[in-house]
This record gives sequence, C-alpha cells and structure tokens, in this order.
Amino acid sequence: MQEAWTEICESLRAEIGEASYQSWIKPMRLIGLDGGAVRTGVPTRFMREWIQAHYQDRLSELLGSRGLKGGIDVVIHQEHGAPARPDIKPAGAGKDAEASSGPVNGNGNGTHYDDIGAPLDARYTFDRFVVGKPNEFAYAAARRVAEADVVPFNPLFLYGGVGLGKTHLMHAIAWHLRKTRPDRSVIYLSAEKFMYRFVRALREHNTVDFKEQFRSVDVLMVDDVQFISGKESTQEEFFHTFNSLVDQGRQIVISADKSPNDLEGMEERLISRLNCGLVADIHATTYELRLGILQAKGEHMGVEVPLKVMEFLAHKITSNVRELEGALNRVVAHHQLVGRDITLETSQDVLHDLLKASERRVTIEEIQKRVSTHFNIRVSDMHSARRARSVARPRQVAMYLSKQLTSRSLPEIGRKFGGRDHTTVMHAVKKVEELREQDSSFNEDVELLRRMLEG
Ligand code: ADP
Ligand code: MG
Repeated sequence: MQEAWTEICESLRAEIGEASYQSWIKPMRLIGLDGGAVRTGVPTRFMREWIQAHYQDRLSELLGSRGLKGGIDVVIHQEHGAPARPDIKPAGAGKDAEASSGPVNGNGNGTHYDDIGAPLDARYTFDRFVVGKPNEFAYAAARRVAEADVVPFNPLFLYGGVGLGKTHLMHAIAWHLRKTRPDRSVIYLSAEKFMYRFVRALREHNTVDFKEQFRSVDVLMVDDVQFISGKESTQEEFFHTFNSLVDQGRQIVISADKSPNDLEGMEERLISRLNCGLVADIHATTYELRLGILQAKGEHMGVEVPLKVMEFLAHKITSNVRELEGALNRVVAHHQLVGRDITLETSQDVLHDLLKASERRVTIEEIQKRVSTHFNIRVSDMHSARRARSVARPRQVAMYLSKQLTSRSLPEIGRKFGGRDHTTVMHAVKKVEELREQDSSFNEDVELLRRMLEG
C-alpha cells in the first residue's frame, strides 16, 4: 500500500504543482487501512481541513483507481509516528475525533456523483475567472457556449499549456448551465475517464449502454483529449460519439494542451472534426494577469496580502496559474499557522525552495547585451576604457544588475567588464543605488531592465 500511496502522491504532485504538493501532500503520513478507508495523518487541524476541502476527492479517486475504494480518512496526528493525543485538542474541536474517523466523502465508491461524469470544482466558476489579454478570447467563447440557446460553434476547442485555466472554463460552463438550464444534461469528464469507461464497457460487454449514455447528453465536455493520442479504439469510439452528438445539434467542448493540428497520434478525420468549430487558445500569463489573479484570490480567502508581496509573487512565479495559486496558498497558510504577518521576507522564506527552482540563471553577458541595447551603446563599450558619461553610466547599471541578479563576486564581475577592479564595481553599485533614489525615471529604467532580465 505504501507503494500505491507514493505513486498517488507523485501523480498529485504533477497535477497540483510543486508548491501545493510541498505544503499539503508531502506532510501527510500513511497510517494504514481502517475499515476499508485509507487512514492518513497530518500534524494540524488546519491542514486536515485544508486537505479535506481541496484534495480529498481527488485522493479518493486516485486511491479508487488503484483498487482502494473505501475513500480516505485524514486524522490529526503528531509528526513521525507519535500517536495523536486525544487529550490535547484545539479549542472547539470536540467533535473532531468522531468526524475524522471513517471516510468523510462517499466519492471513493463512485456513488456520489453522476455515474459517467466527473465532479465539478465549486471554485471554477465564471465569476472567479480573472480575464486578461491571454485568455479573453477563450473566456468569451466559453461564455457564449454557456449562454447560447442554439449551439454557436461545434465543437468549442480550448487549448493551452498546463495550469492556464482550461479545466476552470469547462467547469464554469457546466456550472452556468446547471443553474440556468437545469433541464439539460451536461457531462464533463476527462479523456482519460472516457477511455476508462469505454474499456470497462468493452470488458463487461455493455458497450450499448455506454453509447446510449454518451449519445443522449445535451452538452458533452471532454478535458485533455491529448490523452487519447495513439489510443486508436478509444479515438474511434470518441469519433462516433462526437459525430452522433454533432448531428443531433448537441454542444461539444474539448480541451487539449495543443491545437488540433499539433496533436500527435490522432486520426486525420478526428482532427478535421475538431477543427470544424471554434478553436480558442489560452496564452501564457502576463504579469498583469498574474497580479489580477492574486488580488482576486486574496480577496476570496479574506486575507489581506500586501501589494508588495503580490507583486513579488507575480514577478517570480511565472510558469502557470496553478503554481501561482499554490505559492499564494502557501504564504497564507504559513501566516495562519504561525501567526506572523505576511511580508516580503516571510514570503521569500516560505517559498524559498520554489523560488530557487524557478530562478532563471541570468548571465553577465546577457545583462551586458540587454543594457547596451537599452541605452543604445555598443556591447564592446561594456569592456572598453571609455569614460564618457554616455557609456560609463550604462556600464555601471550593468555592473549593478550583475551584482543583483547573479551570484558572481565583485572581482569576477570586474573581470567581465574589461578587467576592472572590484572597487570599481563596488562604486558602481553604490552609485546606481543612489541614483535610483534620486532620479525616478532612472529608477524606472533600471527596474524595467531588471524585470526583462528576470522575466
Ligand atoms: P488547465 O486545465 O489549463 O491545466 P486549470 O483550469 O486546472 O488549468 O487551472 C489551474 C488553476 O489555476 C485552477 O485552480 C484555476 O482556478 C486557476 N486559474 C487559471 N486561470 C485562472 C484565471 N484566469 N482566473 C482565476 N483562476 C485561474
Ligand atoms: Mg486541466
């Protein structure tokens, strides 16, 4: 079972991102089986509640797919094997012990949700989706599908890199329809699940039922279709389901990590079907969008996060929204657990492993090139002995940035600037610091350069 647990943790790690994984999943300890449920322990009540709210369903699902269908049970338990002491409970936790014994959700056995669809995440609604340049088209298309009376385009094909909001938009369509058109049947599921159901139907010889179920829905949403690349019979079945729904004027929404034409291992006729409707891509996030998402998230959590901290996160965590959320959650959780104010310093501390991993290595050569272009001088002037202000100042800026952005020592930096002495570099750093305080347009220049180099 330990092995299954380790595997599950790993697959969750890929799904939720490193930051959330480190904060929530890694500290969980496997205790054993308890009346069919897998029992795990975490050190605090806060963690237990968080895990239950955010990861329990998915954990149950993953356990279920490995034959452990009894759900998961999270108890408070002192770190590293010491038994939990029921006599010291946090205030107001009277019913805790009871509530935590036995599986908390019935999802593990698959009866809790519609048999063919997958559960929807309550947080993934339109009003919690922050719209910006990179996703406005996909957002508008999704809204259109959710609000239209007549199918506007078929299918709607959403694509983009991981963690950029595809699943969020699909759930949002489903939530919206559930609310406004409860008469319509809406099915959302991953392509993986589609395949799993199909294979099971084949094995149990009831493909007729399977076909019936899928072919009678009003809106079918299949997430991450790249999963069925190379899986021929699943594609075949999917293709037929797809055609039959389209012919009946039912809406289909598909997501993938690439555009239809770039999907590999897909049949030609399926690709051309996928291209028939509207293809909308979600681009990588911009700084503004990341900041907007952090602000919205902070408000939802009811936590006052200083702007400086949000700006810092928006600068540093650029990979995708999931990582960004994970980082914010971690900062907030730390604040709630330890009770220290959220500051730039505590945030850097809490995220230090994450930041180290995502830090891009900027080289002195890159800095010299960028700065030269910016100030319109020749790169060779970075090494030259010319002392005219027009070249000396940019050179100082480049030295300053080299000190800030790389881990090179002063003598090493001096050497890269035409063999200058380390005191020259030191002087440059001081000078630029002074000027940044005195001259706001100079300060903006330097800040802009720093961002570009880090970005
Ligand atoms: P994908 O399916 O593209 O991999 P998800 O839809 O799972 O990405 O998004 C990852 C996380 O980021 C989710 O928690 C989602 O709510 C959040 N997210 C992504 N884009 C946005 C956005 N524009 N506004 C708010 N939250 C977002
Ligand atoms: Mg997704």
